[in-house]
Amino acid sequence: MPQAGFFQNNLEPLLTRDQVQARVQELGAEISRDYAGKSPHLISILKGACIFLSDLVRAIELPLSLDFMAVSSYGASTKSSGVVRITKDLDAPIEGRDVILVEDILDTGLTLSYLHESLLNRNPASLKICALLNKPSRRIKEVHADYIGFEIPDKFVVGYGLDVGEKYRNVPDICVVIDPSANWH
Ligand code: 5GP
Repeated sequence: MPQAGFFQNNLEPLLTRDQVQARVQELGAEISRDYAGKSPHLISILKGACIFLSDLVRAIELPLSLDFMAVSSYGASTKSSGVVRITKDLDAPIEGRDVILVEDILDTGLTLSYLHESLLNRNPASLKICALLNKPSRRIKEVHADYIGFEIPDKFVVGYGLDVGEKYRNVPDICVVIDPSANWH
């Protein structure tokens, strides 16, 4: 199996693939217990959360359904614009559904607080948030995440679905970018 260093000298592993996989299994077990007898509807935010989602759903032992949204975020830069715009909306209504919003990182909170409110307005039976990573020190808008994989320091990370300028999504570990401005190929 390739290590993160195999990809770039500009990456330093923060969470190994084994740590991530173990925690995702725990989150799946927790969700399976909390939603026993129900059929949760998982909504994931493209594209960063898609690898997390694909592992998480296989760790949930319940019937479930999926939908996707896309929002504008950082683009090719690593700075939050503070502007959240839905660029792809859900395929199906969520009224009366037990919804879990699955996100890659809770950072400033701007994206999730906006999406949480937007989804609540559509009258789901319940709405919870599951974020793989949490950077509490960066919070601008308070958001309560019901399930959190890991708390991490205020560092820009990539891998396991997360990118910088569309790169590094396929790195299996979650890594800190040593120099985000460097144009590594
Ligand atoms: P927030 O609105 O909470 O500031 O940011 C949420 C979004 O910003 C995340 O879904 C993710 O797309 C992006 N983001 C925040 N921190 C990081 C990071 O460290 N690395 C990457 N690749 N994206 C991040």
